[in-house]
Amino acid sequence: MHGSKKASIMISGALKAALAALMLCLLTGCRAEPIEIPAAAPFTEAHAVTAAPSREQTPKPSPAPTSEVKPAPNARKVYLTIDDGPNSATHEVLDILREYNAKATFFTIGQCIAAYPGVAKRIVNEGHLLACHTNTHDFDRIYASPEAFAADVADWRAAVEKYVAPDAGAYVFRFPGGSTNSSVGGRKGRTAFVEKMNAEGYIAVDWNLGLNDKWPAGNTEHLPMAEYLWKSYNDTWRLYGSIDPLVILLHDTEPETVKLLPRVLDDLIARGLEFGLCDELTGDYLM
Ligand SMILES: [Zn+2]
Repeated sequence: MHGSKKASIMISGALKAALAALMLCLLTGCRAEPIEIPAAAPFTEAHAVTAAPSREQTPKPSPAPTSEVKPAPNARKVYLTIDDGPNSATHEVLDILREYNAKATFFTIGQCIAAYPGVAKRIVNEGHLLACHTNTHDFDRIYASPEAFAADVADWRAAVEKYVAPDAGAYVFRFPGGSTNSSVGGRKGRTAFVEKMNAEGYIAVDWNLGLNDKWPAGNTEHLPMAEYLWKSYNDTWRLYGSIDPLVILLHDTEPETVKLLPRVLDDLIARGLEFGLCDELTGDYLM
């Protein structure tokens, strides 16, 4: 149930320090670049289609998996998670996932569901998981108290019920910024938030793999963005690749991430991994 804890025992002190530094980077990355909350008029379904990044620069997906490359029945799983949508690029992401026959968990923002209800419906209709990333993603509001957080999550569920379907929302959530971001209030604060949300029927899911796509400041070598994201992805594999469950964080708010998605999927398939949805996790997964 808490495989991460078992795995972390085996991690050396030096590596732990590296992990801590990297996590800080990952987390501050999300915090440092707040998402755009849709306001009023400009956010329409019509915009959703036109603003999608071009497919032309996207590497061609590999051919559909044959029986030879299908994961074994006991294959290790990877949980692909896509945060901060739905938005103008989510159709593109869904197209790519469909080509690869891959499933993902979308940690969505209620206000974005209200702005892009058609995209939210498509997420559900194509077998992905519509999970919770709060209604507002507003740190001052949601981290005021566990009760405030739960109220914002209730607003997210109301948006799902209104714009998608009454039973479309999963009881899985991700803390904006991750559970260890400073607004949560350390271990004690985190326990209070998690206990409140568990009482509401939700489990919390952090991540371990990712592209640093919300943390451009980490690109100290000034690499081209695609190269930086790919390097970050491989760095997180080296640091966290032995942890279960494997949970990858991507943001479909980032055009370079969407362009890189086929390469990430090719890599995951080549590693023999099977795609799982976060509602099959049996408890909280916290870093
Ligand atoms: Zn977020």
